[in-house]
Amino acid sequence: MTSSTTGTKRAASGRKTPRILILGGGYVGLYTAIRLRKQMGRREVAIVVVDPRSYMTYQPFLPEAAAGSIEPRHVVAPHRRELKGTTVINGRVTTIQHGERAVEVTPANGEPYWVRYDHLVLALGTVARTLPIPGLAEVGMGFKWVEEAFALRNQVLGLMDQASSTWDPETRKRMLTFTFVGGGFAGIEALGEIEDMARAATRDFDSIEPDDLRFVLVEATARILPELGDELGGYALEQLRKRGIEMKLSTFLNSCIDGHVVLSTGEEFDSDTIVWTAGVKANPVLQSSDLPLDKMGRVITDAHLRVIDENGEVVAGAWAAGDCAAVPDIAQGDGKFCAPTAQHAVRQSKHLGDNIVHFLSAEPTVEYVHANLGTVASLGLGKGVAQIFGIKLRGPVAWFMHRTYHLFAMPTLNRKVRIMLDWTTALLFRREPVALGGVTTPRAEFLAASGAAPSRENLPKPPAISGS
Ligand SMILES: Cc1cc2nc3c(=O)[nH]c(=O)nc-3n(C[C@H](O)[C@H](O)[C@H](O)COP(=O)(O)OP(=O)(O)OC[C@H]3O[C@@H](n4cnc5c(N)ncnc54)[C@H](O)[C@@H]3O)c2cc1C
Repeated sequence: MTSSTTGTKRAASGRKTPRILILGGGYVGLYTAIRLRKQMGRREVAIVVVDPRSYMTYQPFLPEAAAGSIEPRHVVAPHRRELKGTTVINGRVTTIQHGERAVEVTPANGEPYWVRYDHLVLALGTVARTLPIPGLAEVGMGFKWVEEAFALRNQVLGLMDQASSTWDPETRKRMLTFTFVGGGFAGIEALGEIEDMARAATRDFDSIEPDDLRFVLVEATARILPELGDELGGYALEQLRKRGIEMKLSTFLNSCIDGHVVLSTGEEFDSDTIVWTAGVKANPVLQSSDLPLDKMGRVITDAHLRVIDENGEVVAGAWAAGDCAAVPDIAQGDGKFCAPTAQHAVRQSKHLGDNIVHFLSAEPTVEYVHANLGTVASLGLGKGVAQIFGIKLRGPVAWFMHRTYHLFAMPTLNRKVRIMLDWTTALLFRREPVALGGVTTPRAEFLAASGAAPSRENLPKPPAISGS
């Protein structure tokens, strides 16, 4: 490891206490703030975190939250409880003027305002990378946030409720067809968990059989889970096919207007649920900044996690890590960049916190280097696939490793315990097959109750029973 030039004791801003402004309170934002606060008191440094959400989302557990194995509230860590001694601002960063050491924050309500700082930490993550496919913006849903995982679960179980009470076979078929686009980690884990949950839930329906459900995966390339290599990716593909999931590889979604899916193979079908998990891109707000970006829109950093310009010069006072940053992967060699994974994000953020402390204490900063430990993926309850330290695992062992690894990585003891209790109750009493889609329209019943009572005139009559 090499060390860099050192900083001065205090950032030169005229303020007594340097202010570190962290944009984004996800993995990197949360852990950087915690790390900084552990080492520096309020008099030494002021820490401000800006995020429209008031919690950090542990994304690797979203598929299990969608499947009902984990309570959705337990896959997030609330900022105000976890970030004691840190100011939390709930608002969206809309402009970054690093030259002026100021960012514009737009709150959910009220006028935008500017926040000044001495050091900036960019932890803005990614957003879904969508394509201009006709109908997608109107009917598609993403799978990156806990609200989406919760909504998907409600949608799948809600449509099963509705389909069980519908006579029209075409309507029923469309309701029970679930389409996932994108065969990377997020898509395959979401598909595997939801399919497993939905088929298990059919036990409680007397008019829906497991085979009535149709699950379709559309993937543009010829493989799934490329991070796991051909052998394990092939195993996952075979397992999902055996479960009756239609795995359409080398296939594009051409359009989905009003839920009418048209594929590049010419196949067409109707589907009320279309989940888009075909990749992510760097947070577009970075385009509204004066910071150097690479071709993919990520902030460029050196291995010390300091932002650098196109000539490799350090941009003073700017740091970045996680999915929104192009961080050199020294363990892999020259020209390689760290993959956008939680594994890197959590380690980079701790490293970043330490480097800022080093800088403010006029000590040398240290390069980030981490060799990939491996990859774990869940394909449903008791089903999984993993590669850890080069060892390939399949089935229940891989699934157990997935749960163990992510439980270990989940922030805070409080969350870990809650998740373990969720798993235990789901094991003992089965997962809850309850759809709570009404949470999105909480006033609907109240409005209906406030309306005029229906007229008793001209009440509709049932059709006459034939033969009577
Ligand atoms: C479904 C799913 C499953 C995954 N599974 C795995 C896995 O199994 N293993 C693994 O290693 N990785 C996994 N990942 C990837 C991992 O979650 C990410 O690499 C990690 O979350 C990146 O952390 P981050 O802090 O860079 O970004 P994020 O955690 O995405 O945080 C970004 C934060 O920025 C905030 N933000 C966005 N826009 C603004 C704005 N304009 N102003 C202020 N704040 C803003 C967001 O609200 C968010 O809190 C998965 C991702 C998904 C979506």
